[in-house]
Amino acid sequence: RVRVRFAPSPTGPLHIGGVRTALLNYLFAKKHGGDFILRIEDTDQKRYVEGAEEYITKALKWLNIPYDQGPDSEAEIQEKYGPFRQSERKELYKKYAEELLNSGWAYYAFDTPEELDAERLKSESDGGKFTYNWATRGTLQNSLSLDTQEVQKRIESGEPYVIRFKSPVDESIKLNDIIRGEIIIDTNILDDKVLFKSDGMPTYHLANIVDDHLMEITHVIRGEEWLPSLALHVLLYRAFGWDAPEFAHLPLILKSVGKGKLSKRDGDKLGFPVFPLQWTDPVSGEVSSGYKEQGYYPEAVVNFLAFLGWNPGTEQELFSLDELIEAFEIEKVQKAGARFDPDKTKWYNHQYLQKQSNDDLAKELCDYIEQSTARRTDLRIDYLSKVAGLLKERVNFVSELVVEGDFFLRAPENFQEKAVKKQWKEHTASYMNQVAMVIESVNDFNSQTIEETVKSWISEKELSFGQVMPPLRLALVGEMKGPHVFDIIDLLGKTQTLDRIQYAVT
Ligand code: GLU
Repeated sequence: RVRVRFAPSPTGPLHIGGVRTALLNYLFAKKHGGDFILRIEDTDQKRYVEGAEEYITKALKWLNIPYDQGPDSEAEIQEKYGPFRQSERKELYKKYAEELLNSGWAYYAFDTPEELDAERLKSESDGGKFTYNWATRGTLQNSLSLDTQEVQKRIESGEPYVIRFKSPVDESIKLNDIIRGEIIIDTNILDDKVLFKSDGMPTYHLANIVDDHLMEITHVIRGEEWLPSLALHVLLYRAFGWDAPEFAHLPLILKSVGKGKLSKRDGDKLGFPVFPLQWTDPVSGEVSSGYKEQGYYPEAVVNFLAFLGWNPGTEQELFSLDELIEAFEIEKVQKAGARFDPDKTKWYNHQYLQKQSNDDLAKELCDYIEQSTARRTDLRIDYLSKVAGLLKERVNFVSELVVEGDFFLRAPENFQEKAVKKQWKEHTASYMNQVAMVIESVNDFNSQTIEETVKSWISEKELSFGQVMPPLRLALVGEMKGPHVFDIIDLLGKTQTLDRIQYAVT
């Protein structure tokens, strides 16, 4: 059975790169009838951020990509695979580190941070870079260079130590990545990474491998930034004598303009969200905007994220979650970095907004108006529903309906000066008075009959459209925007239309 995991570290809000990883894991799991697991990798106490885990679970929920197993799973699952927070599995890792010590795949090291810094400086002054590995380990303070008794003594005396992995010498190992194919690595370039820290906690590498094994993970799908760790991970599986899962490293998400990875700062600077939900930093109190609060539909976010580095190879761009599950093929994920395009994100939202029924949009609009003006709106849902129907093609977000259709929500008080200068001529007031009477005479009040009546009056009077229609729009809207004038009149209704014309001419 396919089992994949999303393994975030709760060091802050989930950003879109993390969400994309979660989503592709989810799609892969569902495509293969497997399990999508959430594991919280919180072994680094220093980087732990209050509220981050809750944020992650809320974000997955909002996106509608729920995990099958995770920190809140039932007892039976917990017993078999849990706990799903690494901080609750602490006791477990030591045993595995010791196993590697016993089999010769790991060793104790006593170097203090100061000693390591000194080594680094020494190497740098020689123009090189310090690596703790086959070439240097013989001269450093560790159980490969000290005699067994001394090592024993130091440990017993309570001297702090770490446990390091012993990378093999002079080997080229073959790694396989589903997206990148075969990668060959010379083991001599590898560090002897720390597996177990002096604070009694495992490092990411040890905990991650032990957990993937115990949780029976079959495929590791994660960001490209973990590719440099792949060799160590594969060696760890070998050292434990375990079968390794398959690996797929997803391409980086690049800035919309310029070079480099997309970061929170790009979003802040250019005014687009990089977080699914709004995030308030628990320390600084700084608020970063989220897709949800900006009015994005989760379906739109999911759709555009799936296309960051993947496409089905057809023209189709709009995919529901179910369609994505059906179409997703991990082999088709690209190697090259995927450029993030905030305009495309808006385009997706526009598309999903068109799919909403007018009544649903009206409810959203109503909520939005209530929230944004902090008071109830007395506008009726059926009216707002028609407003939405007339304007939705022009907007990307429900909030924009309020801007585009402000004149449906209240009568204009002022008229745009430039438009007045251009449209309001000597005889305009008189034409408007006349057109008001014509409109008043329409009995079967709908866009079509109003249009027919007004147009026949215009030609009877031998006027031009230009003398009547633009100032009429100006009178009703306050500026030269908006949909078909007769649709506006229809929706405003007779009384409101006549009132507005009246106000404009006086
Ligand atoms: N905890 C790691 C992260 O935050 C997980 C990496 C992995 O999936 O192996 O990205």
